[in-house]
Amino acid sequence: MDTSDPLAGRLGPAERATAWRRLSQEHFDLVVIGGGVVGCGVALDAATRGLRTALVEARDLASGTSSRTSKLFHGGLRYLEQLELGLVREALAERELMLTRIAPHLVKPVSFLYPLRNRGWERPYVAAGLTLYDTMGGARTVPRHKHLTRAAALRLVPALRRDALIGGIRYFDAIADDARHTMTVARTAAHYGAVIRSSTQVVGFTKEADRISGVRVRDCESGEEADVAAHVVVNCTGVWTDELQRLSGERGRFRVRASKGVHIVVPRDRIVADSGLILRTETSVLFVIPWRGHWILGTTDTDWNLDLAHPAATKADIDYIFDRVNRVLATPLTHDDIEGVYAGLRPLLAGENAATSKLSREHAVARVAPGMFAIAGGKYTTYRVMAADAVDAAAADLPTRIAPSITDKVPLLGADGYYALVNQADRLAARYGLHPYRVRHMLDRYGSLIHQVLDAADGRRDLLSPLPGAPDYLAVEVVHAASHEGALHLEDVLTRRTRISIEYPHRGVESARAAAELMAPVLGWDAATIDREIEVYAARVEAERDAQTQPDDSAADARRSAAPEARPRVLEPVVL
Ligand SMILES: Cc1cc2nc3c(=O)[nH]c(=O)nc-3n(C[C@H](O)[C@H](O)[C@H](O)COP(=O)(O)OP(=O)(O)OC[C@H]3O[C@@H](n4cnc5c(N)ncnc54)[C@H](O)[C@@H]3O)c2cc1C
Repeated sequence: MDTSDPLAGRLGPAERATAWRRLSQEHFDLVVIGGGVVGCGVALDAATRGLRTALVEARDLASGTSSRTSKLFHGGLRYLEQLELGLVREALAERELMLTRIAPHLVKPVSFLYPLRNRGWERPYVAAGLTLYDTMGGARTVPRHKHLTRAAALRLVPALRRDALIGGIRYFDAIADDARHTMTVARTAAHYGAVIRSSTQVVGFTKEADRISGVRVRDCESGEEADVAAHVVVNCTGVWTDELQRLSGERGRFRVRASKGVHIVVPRDRIVADSGLILRTETSVLFVIPWRGHWILGTTDTDWNLDLAHPAATKADIDYIFDRVNRVLATPLTHDDIEGVYAGLRPLLAGENAATSKLSREHAVARVAPGMFAIAGGKYTTYRVMAADAVDAAAADLPTRIAPSITDKVPLLGADGYYALVNQADRLAARYGLHPYRVRHMLDRYGSLIHQVLDAADGRRDLLSPLPGAPDYLAVEVVHAASHEGALHLEDVLTRRTRISIEYPHRGVESARAAAELMAPVLGWDAATIDREIEVYAARVEAERDAQTQPDDSAADARRSAAPEARPRVLEPVVL
């Protein structure tokens, strides 16, 4: 494959049609179920080892948990406290790899202030932890932690109440736009030859005697079905793991349960600070995370047994987050400050059986049946390690020996050439007639793929205008999302390729028509389809807003699930 081809890694309508043909005609070494970060990581790992690889995702890339996280690449101070040192070291090594080699365009350092509340024990206790954190690999690309007096901490975060702290410690982690990162992993896998197809749901398994020999897939746009043949199938469906397990008719080696985490987005000017915050709660921690012109506040941790595709935030979740953050802020936040709210589900391992499943750190990989493997648990930060473990395990059922994982040496699309382009941002800006600030912002989203994005505006300068209702984004980015990034519905563009749904108080509704009209020519939509897309998106926003006024999960879930699906032919749950 020619990796210098500028169209390599493109996920547009033509590639989608080709992918459908390839799925039914080729025999794959490995088929991945699920286009979250773990599935996309497995596809990239397998493709770069030389395996014939396909990945199918029922909805949109990253539409499950992988677009709904705290967005941190971190070692996890919580694990440090539990003395899970191996886990922390591994995660910090991944953070460093992402920051330097794999995705420097997408993953950036982020500063946190730990406000100290207790005299005596607390400063040495936290400092000892952070010294370990830095020593284990934290402080390479990012600065070491630093002690601050109360006055210095208040200068860093003037929004804090004076009586909320007696001093502070500043440390660094890293942050990325999770949905864009996952999509970029998928595009990189496609670049190395993997078939990547979203809106393609696994609805059954094929067998040869007692061996899984492939999957039956359904196109969630057309309703068409086809069989995909493979030596090995890897279940990477996060909180859907048990559902796929049941569908396969095989007994699972571990179970996955869902725990809901909610985040709130508020405008940057509502909290005057030059650093994020990490606050201790009764049971865990709560973050205030800088996010472009906003802050992300979160998260919660409660059991969830309802709709897996559309977990709903309740008024109680929102009140909990505000209550904890307002305890330390001089000017409290209110519901009127909310720009966006999102809820995600942690795929937590439950009922694992160490004798039959290889329990590796906090994720598990298991051979469920001949030809079928499952991987779940873990966290976003360690997706690359999880992926390598899954492919290593799958090797047992592949007919030939396979090469070791090389993804620690594979930069994601857009990483190569990124640093030079940052230095040339002014020149780039002049070439395209854009403000240099805008170009830098785009480089952090596309890296060296920026030319691919902006060249689409050749002879169409109108595409270089901001998107109505969302001035942080250009019209051409919406076109690019549909032509290159696999976006098939308005929801994909407004919630995941851009983050308009959580960054603007209208939650995307005021940009919906303009965005739909930009997507239409790329995806072949007629006027009726444009109207339907807008209606479905508006109904989703309305249902989410409504859910967020409800006191509990079941009431919120009932409101949220009343909204229609963007992909009307998706089966939820998949029934036998
Ligand atoms: C609130 C919250 C905050 C978090 N914050 C962080 C953080 O800051 N840092 C960190 O490291 N980790 C964090 N995590 C953990 C991390 O997000 C997850 O571990 C990770 O995203 C899980 O990815 P996944 O690929 O396993 O699952 P998912 O992203 O859910 O992917 C599974 C995919 O499978 C698809 N699927 C399901 N059924 C089918 C089918 N039949 N056919 C085809 N496809 C199917 C789904 O549509 C979905 O896209 C957080 C988690 C939560 C919930």
